[in-house]
Amino acid sequence: MSSGDDRRHVVIVGGGFAGLGCAQKLADHPDLRITLLDRNNYHQFQPLLYQVATSLLAPADIAHSLREVFANQDNVEVELAEISEVDLPTKTVKSSDGGEWSGDALVLAAGSQPNFFGTQGAPENSFPLYSLDNATRLRSRILGLLEQVDRDPQLIDRGALNFVIVGGGPTGVEVAGAIGDMIELTLPAEYHNVDTSRAHIYLVDLGDALLKPFSDKAHAYVAKVLKDKGVDIHLGTGVKEVHTGHAVLSDGTLVPTRCVIWAGGIKAAPVAAACGLAQGRGGRVDVESDLTFGGHPGVYAIGDIANISGPDGKPLPQLGSVALQSGKAAAENILAEFAGKPPKDFAYRDKGIMAMIGRTEAIAAIGEKHHEVHGQLAHIAWLGIHASLMTGTRDKIEAIIAWAWDRYTKTGGPHVLDRREAAKIDWEDDPAVMPSPAT
Ligand SMILES: Cc1cc2nc3c(=O)[nH]c(=O)nc-3n(C[C@H](O)[C@H](O)[C@H](O)COP(=O)(O)OP(=O)(O)OC[C@H]3O[C@@H](n4cnc5c(N)ncnc54)[C@H](O)[C@@H]3O)c2cc1C
Repeated sequence: MSSGDDRRHVVIVGGGFAGLGCAQKLADHPDLRITLLDRNNYHQFQPLLYQVATSLLAPADIAHSLREVFANQDNVEVELAEISEVDLPTKTVKSSDGGEWSGDALVLAAGSQPNFFGTQGAPENSFPLYSLDNATRLRSRILGLLEQVDRDPQLIDRGALNFVIVGGGPTGVEVAGAIGDMIELTLPAEYHNVDTSRAHIYLVDLGDALLKPFSDKAHAYVAKVLKDKGVDIHLGTGVKEVHTGHAVLSDGTLVPTRCVIWAGGIKAAPVAAACGLAQGRGGRVDVESDLTFGGHPGVYAIGDIANISGPDGKPLPQLGSVALQSGKAAAENILAEFAGKPPKDFAYRDKGIMAMIGRTEAIAAIGEKHHEVHGQLAHIAWLGIHASLMTGTRDKIEAIIAWAWDRYTKTGGPHVLDRREAAKIDWEDDPAVMPSPAT
């Protein structure tokens, strides 16, 4: 499809940290034309999804219009499209509704999707937390349960206040801490009829520690903070089955619950499979050191969808910082390629990792040496880094106000049940947790 424009054209699939970082760098070059394709018209800030799910932030605080980002750069076209086909030799992508885009360079930055590892019933009955849509759906389920228990406390016997969180990585730990705070603070303040002593949070992980990449000292700190918030930690334990009204743990325990939160792992977005090449670890695309792949010059994969080797040869973790840096590095290599210069190998600058464990507790491993700090200092570092990474000044200000509000009040953020269908529950649909007939 000729546009009558003879500027070089770069097509980017995905407006997450990686695709956005790449597009922003290229947008400074008016001699280029960039098409940014995403199935959503917004960039979502995944690290804060759990705060939307637990009503600390509003959805608009963590989603930013992609069109607004490029409103002043007319060499960038943002288009709403779900890409389902990729042809690497011609650098062409096609959408399920008949759209087609070809470029002089093609960048795949479509991110991840949840990996349920074949767990029976998990795709249908659990609540993954990987997109804004997931987060608002989970928020409605949590609030819906609270509303229903407020009217009918007997539902607690059928697991209405049991929350099962699968996965003890940052997402699982953050959501467990936030639900613990909700039960301790919000429920007594806003749901006066709910007996909070009957709420139960299960955090299960197959490994031997939560937040595994941190030190043993940090593992003990995280476990203590969560236990103080009433979280029941089950290590060396997985979830075997998820049903409409209960979950079965790998040790055989049956937990009546209407809220299984899936933070158990990710795999590459379906776009990786659409490339038609053998997929590497996690279904990802194995890239060269210059972020190209498949033996096709000008075809790049960046961020979560790619296996990018670190200095030790092992794939780098799926992190926002890896995605953002790889996006910028791919842009530089595209500019070099167009200028007839050699590409550079991608070198990741590790600035550290961190996780929130509640309203005021956090843990951070700062810098390449992962110098660990816990508590208030880590909390302040977490707030500063996440605010600085957010797109748009308004989002940053609103998030900071919401965090301050949450820090000094007991009610937290907006407890808005805006998706009533996600909150609807057929309490009779699971025979395993029906009350015994009266004798
Ligand atoms: C709950 C959660 C918490 C996290 N917390 C942290 C943290 O604290 N710190 C940290 O560093 N990292 C964190 N991460 C990881 C980090 O968010 C990811 O590594 C990062 O978002 C990856 O960026 P990306 O651009 O590769 O993919 P994404 O951010 O997932 O963006 C991919 C984009 O592609 C679009 N897309 C997908 N498929 C298609 C298609 N077929 N057609 C069109 N568009 C498509 C999506 O809509 C999306 O906009 C977290 C992740 C999650 C899920």
